[in-house]
Amino acid sequence: MSRVLIVGAGLTGGVCACLLRRGTANPLHIVVWDKARGAGGRMSTSRNPNNLFCTVDLGAQYITATPYYSKIHKSFYQELLTHGVLKPLEATVEGMMAMEEGTEHYATPSGMSSIVKHYLKEAGAEVFFGHQITHIYHRGLWWEVHRKGGSPEQFDVVVLTMPVPQILQLQGDIGSLLSESERLKLEDVSYSSRYALGLFYKAGVQIGVPWVAKYVFNNPCIRYIAIDDKKSNLVSEEFGRSVVVHTSVPFGLKHLEQAKEEVQAIILQELQMVLPGFPEPETIKCQKWRYSQVTRSVADCPGQMTLLAKPLLVCGGDGFTHSNFDGCIESALKLFEVLKSSL
Ligand SMILES: Cc1cc2nc3c(=O)[nH]c(=O)nc-3n(C[C@H](O)[C@H](O)[C@H](O)COP(=O)(O)OP(=O)(O)OC[C@H]3O[C@@H](n4cnc5c(N)ncnc54)[C@H](O)[C@@H]3O)c2cc1C
Repeated sequence: MSRVLIVGAGLTGGVCACLLRRGTANPLHIVVWDKARGAGGRMSTSRNPNNLFCTVDLGAQYITATPYYSKIHKSFYQELLTHGVLKPLEATVEGMMAMEEGTEHYATPSGMSSIVKHYLKEAGAEVFFGHQITHIYHRGLWWEVHRKGGSPEQFDVVVLTMPVPQILQLQGDIGSLLSESERLKLEDVSYSSRYALGLFYKAGVQIGVPWVAKYVFNNPCIRYIAIDDKKSNLVSEEFGRSVVVHTSVPFGLKHLEQAKEEVQAIILQELQMVLPGFPEPETIKCQKWRYSQVTRSVADCPGQMTLLAKPLLVCGGDGFTHSNFDGCIESALKLFEVLKSSL
């Protein structure tokens, strides 16, 4: 049985694993490794450590489907709606960019990571967290993959779905497989950076704002605030309240290397300027998104880049398309085409 390793339990990795399971006739052993402690990647949902039922989405906030993508990715949207993973976004997001007529927005009642979890479950993949890959070596007909703090393992096929700079950081034989033009294309990819704060409150705390989510335009630090439990259409407030704050990209860049505690204090101070008297949270989670959204994707390389055809080593992710749900689906579909013909 072929052993396929997918690196990254984000949306691209999850959908790719699911397409492989559903779309290949041969029995496959699909393994997913992620360095994080849970599934989701940049569609992460974080739990309040004092109340595990209360969550906050620290990365992606809602899914936006333009008429074009609603049509070409119809089966993906239908599946997630049927399973209750997506629900139409009922809340109005103040200051949201005007979109083409017919564009739909969706919320996730169980948090953004539930999208990725849905695909990983459908894939029946063996998923391992806390598995950070460091080196990949070409050993004849297979790949030897090394991870931090564990023994190397062999795979017939390896799929990399992490942000492009993290692919370039890998050691071993990857560097020698890249042609000069491929290397230049990968090095040219760029991402925005920003911070996210998750604020957790006890049940019953009043957050006296008239909106559910809003973009902020008159503050150098804060770009977006959402009352997360309301945005996600979670009806029950008995589990506590949660708020997410995203910073602007210039703020993220300026403070990228600063200690997290210091950055957290600045964001909280700015929040009081934007919303004087905003309640003090019980718990705070601060997330740095060094690679937030792709601002320049890999040129002339839609969806994936094959680094070696035999044994197959291929990379994909939103760095090869664009940063949203449809960008990841597009990349996963392209990865699947390559995998299918190889397997
Ligand atoms: C703040 C923010 C807001 C956003 N808002 C939206 C939105 O509203 N709507 C929307 O559709 N999209 C949004 N996006 C974009 C969306 O989240 C991404 O496009 C998408 O999640 C990318 O998925 P991916 O699987 O390609 O990559 P990722 O989600 O980054 O997955 C890659 C995975 O690889 C793992 N990894 C990295 N290196 C290693 C290693 N060496 N070994 C093992 N594992 C490794 C990481 O832990 C990660 O889980 C937002 C993103 C951010 C950060």
